[in-house]
Amino acid sequence: MKIVYGPVSSWRLGKSLGVDLICSKEKICSFDCIYCQLGKTFKKTSQRNNFVSIQELRTEILKALQTTIPDVITFSGTGEPTLADNMDLAIQTIREVSTIPLAVLTNSSLMNKKDVINTLKKLDIVVAKLDAPNEEIFQRINQPADNISFKETIDGIKKFKKIFTGKLALQIMFIRDNVQYAEEMARLIKNIEPDEVQINTPLRPCPIKPLTEKQLKLIEEQFKIKGLNTISVYTSKKPKTTPLDKMELIKRRRTEV
Ligand code: SF4
Repeated sequence: MKIVYGPVSSWRLGKSLGVDLICSKEKICSFDCIYCQLGKTFKKTSQRNNFVSIQELRTEILKALQTTIPDVITFSGTGEPTLADNMDLAIQTIREVSTIPLAVLTNSSLMNKKDVINTLKKLDIVVAKLDAPNEEIFQRINQPADNISFKETIDGIKKFKKIFTGKLALQIMFIRDNVQYAEEMARLIKNIEPDEVQINTPLRPCPIKPLTEKQLKLIEEQFKIKGLNTISVYTSKKPKTTPLDKMELIKRRRTEV
């Protein structure tokens, strides 16, 4: 399995070249979201570890940038990217060979950890997941690893916002379990003041039905009323892209790109 994949046509980031620091055939994540496009989490953990070789990453990224010029290089893939203990070194390595903005799609669960914060603050764009307004809905939708709580997750996002000089976007997957909490979520997120709120619903095949365009529009209104800057999966434009290797892309049919 290759570390670098895509470029992906992303409704939130444009032409995005993916970097998968987990690179596992089976998903390794600190969550087991009920809508996850990758199926059940194979290994649910909050323990950080090294999964890929940085030397291989360097070789692959140099090769990919010879044939494609993405808008952004994004850490994403077959699990939660911040579980990779060598993410800091990966950022440093990519910065040495490219000036393209660097982003991450994270589930936010490790954003209260000092080492993770110190790594994430080196990125240009952090897209952080927040699907729930309280512990009960958090457990129901995201099914986190045992030692991860809603309170610590949201505290981590708040702390990070205070020190981060790049763009912080919050991504919310709206489904039947949290649709009635849109107003509460908007109030909660207003306190964080992210640069952008990304309103999503699972449009790719998964066991959970997506909300309709009309429902998502009403939800988006709740955020706009609060003065928050929003984008929505139904209305955002996606650029045309040609993947370097179609199979590598299929292996990571992630809902969040
Ligand atoms: S949607 Fe993302 S955070 Fe949730 S289980 Fe899948 S990979 Fe993990």
